Amino acid sequence: DRIEDRLSFQAEVTKLLDIVVHSLYSDRRIFLRELISNASDACDKLRYEALTTPALREGAEDFRITLRLDKDAGTIEIADNGIGMNRAELIDNLGTIARSGTEEFVKHLKDADKQGEARLIGQFGVGFYSSFMVAEQVQVFTRRAGETQGWHWESDGGGAFSIGEAEVTAPGTRIVLHLREDAKEFLEDWRLKSTVKTYSDHIEIPVVLLGKDDEGKDTEETLNEASALWTRPRSEITEEQYTEFYHHVSHAFDTPWHTVHFKAEGAIEYTGLLFVPSQKPFDLFQPERKTHIKLYVNRVFITDDAPEVLPSYLRFVRGIVDSSDLPLNVSREMLQNNPVLRKIQGGLVKRLLGDLKKRAENADEYATFWETFGAVLKEGIYEDFERRSDILELTRFRSSTTDGWVSLADYVSRMKTGQEEIYYITGDDAETLKRSPQLEGFRAKGVEVLLLTDPVDEFWINAVPDYQGKALKSAASSAAGLDAVADPESKDETPEETAPTDQIEALAKALQETLGDAVKEVRSSTRLKESPVCLVSEDGGMSLHLERMLKQAGQ
Ligand code: ADP
Ligand code: MG
Repeated sequence: DRIEDRLSFQAEVTKLLDIVVHSLYSDRRIFLRELISNASDACDKLRYEALTTPALREGAEDFRITLRLDKDAGTIEIADNGIGMNRAELIDNLGTIARSGTEEFVKHLKDADKQGEARLIGQFGVGFYSSFMVAEQVQVFTRRAGETQGWHWESDGGGAFSIGEAEVTAPGTRIVLHLREDAKEFLEDWRLKSTVKTYSDHIEIPVVLLGKDDEGKDTEETLNEASALWTRPRSEITEEQYTEFYHHVSHAFDTPWHTVHFKAEGAIEYTGLLFVPSQKPFDLFQPERKTHIKLYVNRVFITDDAPEVLPSYLRFVRGIVDSSDLPLNVSREMLQNNPVLRKIQGGLVKRLLGDLKKRAENADEYATFWETFGAVLKEGIYEDFERRSDILELTRFRSSTTDGWVSLADYVSRMKTGQEEIYYITGDDAETLKRSPQLEGFRAKGVEVLLLTDPVDEFWINAVPDYQGKALKSAASSAAGLDAVADPESKDETPEETAPTDQIEALAKALQETLGDAVKEVRSSTRLKESPVCLVSEDGGMSLHLERMLKQAGQ
């Protein structure tokens, strides 16, 4: 009587499911974290939609996520009264690879062996599909808020799923997992409870275990703290809870390199709980340069892609901001040019840069951050004029005279007598740059040169005229003022033998004629010690490296 359609999964999903089902990944408890996390997201989404369409929540009960164990049937049910899904959404969300994390997972699969696959599941998470680690069959009953037709979705994790109409009495989603024989341990109350406590304690919505007592009466037990983690005092939150929360908001599985939890009080009040990951998020260098802070107003989730919350050069930061000073019915559009949000952004940036400065005091720890996110942070040097000098202080460089990371302050403190400028050279690779003939003169005088090897360096370096009054100067430019730098303690040797000036000039002229338009000018120089000639760029002109980059890009 029920009309069911049978549809195939997108090819990538089939592949992914095959791996999930046969995975050696040992911590199968994560399926519960993923499903509870989805249920909580679904409630957040409905709460947000109801701000503008209150009818969606009329007569509805408070948000909650319920769990039910049926030992006889061998099932676990996870239900929420959130946004629900209609037919099209079911097909899209549970039949394709929709989210970037899962997509990345699939991309990495190509070169992974069995062990590698298992590790990838732990590293990326596979969201809803992790149900199939424990279930031989998964059923979803759901109804989209604002619609009357309910839907049933079902799959055994093979290549296909079926979908059909179903009677669902209220908006929300109920997921029924038919546990595999080897996963029946999850039918034990204590196992379920400890898993929820470990992974989902920070979820703001109550996670309630429904059951029956000895007399057959219904019982309810709330398993989690059910208060938003960021509203609790710092002293009551453990390191593990922060990390779990980071996993929840970021969909990542590394341990944060830095966690900051603070409450700003004053003209505008807000709470921030922000994380700097220890690993690069996947979308770090995508052209959208999207930031990922979840914005809440009085604990109501508003959006996680408002570009106004953080500038792009801090897009590696994850976390939440909750303010009571934005109107609750704020729409995503209204967030543009919102003066309150601008102030909040200012506060967050100040806080983050201040924290980075403190963490920079530990050079080794800071180096791990810098190697992961330095190239992104440097975008701020030309994008955020106000904070330029703060970001310059946080910037680290490879250098021609040492192996570690060097700050501009380090560089200035070791400048040679008579040296007025800070020298740098741009290129693809620090080791090659170190050997460049353009640095011969600098090497001979022991003058340090900063080696800039990130593509972004070409952009900011031209925007920064100086640091503490010392001009930043390309070592490859013809106007580098190396002559003013004192020679190393002169070992009363006879001056170097040089060819007579008229001969050099004749040679330069001959070269100029031969090379024609290929060069602008041929001239003599004192910067070379071993090589007969080298290319330099015109002072104020495009750097040689940038020219090469543009040529490669076909410009
Ligand atoms: P993610 O949560 O990272 O988006 P998942 O694989 O966990 O990825 O879920 C895929 C999508 O399925 C979600 O984005 C959401 O649109 C939908 N979804 C999953 N569970 C629910 C639910 N309980 N209620 C409503 N939608 C859901
Ligand atoms: Mg999810």
